[in-house]
Amino acid sequence: MKRRSRLFAHDPGSTPHRAAAVRGRGAFASGGPLVDPQARRIRYLRVSLTDRCNYRCTYCMPEEGIDRIARADLLTLEEVATIVQVFAELGVERVRLTGGEPTVRRGLVELVAALAAIPIDVVLTTNGARLAEMAAPLRQAGLRGLTVSLDSLDPERFAAITRRGVLAEVLAGLDAARDVGFSGIKINTVAIRGFNDHELGELALWAWERGHVPRFIEVMPMSAGRLYVPGELMPAAEIRERVAVAAGAPLVSDSGEGVRGLGPATYWRVASGPHAGRRVGVIAPMTENFCASCNRLRLSAAGSLHSCLARDDAGDLRSVLRSAGPVALAARVRAVLGYKQSGHTFALDGQGGPDKAMISIGG
Ligand code: SAM
Ligand code: SF4
Repeated sequence: MKRRSRLFAHDPGSTPHRAAAVRGRGAFASGGPLVDPQARRIRYLRVSLTDRCNYRCTYCMPEEGIDRIARADLLTLEEVATIVQVFAELGVERVRLTGGEPTVRRGLVELVAALAAIPIDVVLTTNGARLAEMAAPLRQAGLRGLTVSLDSLDPERFAAITRRGVLAEVLAGLDAARDVGFSGIKINTVAIRGFNDHELGELALWAWERGHVPRFIEVMPMSAGRLYVPGELMPAAEIRERVAVAAGAPLVSDSGEGVRGLGPATYWRVASGPHAGRRVGVIAPMTENFCASCNRLRLSAAGSLHSCLARDDAGDLRSVLRSAGPVALAARVRAVLGYKQSGHTFALDGQGGPDKAMISIGG
């Protein structure tokens, strides 16, 4: 019978080896930082903790018939911590926990604490349904940043797009997060023509009033385009126009051609008027391709390392970790990075996307 580690006592698959966070820095990886064949430096790792979710967003997953990762194939949380430590030693500065819905993975709070101790900047993307109860422990565990998805401020429309979400729960979660000290919470809205395009301005104003940062995402043709409707795409330029109309003033790039943080968004500020200085982010893979500045890799909940959201090729880290241990991981990571392509092949008509679903890799 497997011995449980105390650190991840709630994790059903916990393995006996001790978590990375308790080892010394530099224990596993050597060599220089991670640089891909296009000379892009990797600074950001997105980790999917589960492919399960308490919602069923229409653009993210089909209602039925998605292949699920078997429990035995999931990385344990200790394995996740070990992998993140290797990435930290390879120069990665930030890890984003995502999914699926990361808050449905048991042991999330302990994982955040272990990762924060590596140390690495730990941030989370969530649908917010469980935030009311989890915001305080997550904050205490060392979570540095929060992104909450919110596609509509209308309860019925919110329920329709999520297929089971309760808007009031998410709003309560956002209030709780702010109350325990999270600031600059990012609100992710997928902009969908014919569904919420008329709400984009209102969402921006709503977010600003509460000190949040609204961000709008162009819908992407994941799942081989099966969930994508070309006419629903709201191009970034039109998104900015809607926000500018609501703000009553033009938007200007945050600096030069649009300043970027570590993530894929470009940021814009309201130039004048009552909302002057307010920021809005736009994530525009479809019409304002940002692949040239890509700085990230993605780890699935089953331990496969994906060099691109929009492509299916991936390398298995789980088997390397289980058979050869953490030291061999760095070499595998560099091998996967060697295949990172210069860009995605998403086309506006929905062609060119990967077979994988967003829920299975994490947005
Ligand atoms: N469950 C969490 C959530 O919803 O925030 C984290 C995972 S979710 C896959 C991450 C982000 O991807 C969400 O903001 C979601 O709206 C976005 N997303 C999902 N499918 C998408 C698609 N086809 N195009 C653009 N964004 C998508
Ligand atoms: Fe779940 Fe997030 Fe996908 Fe919605 S977008 S189904 S909340 S993983």
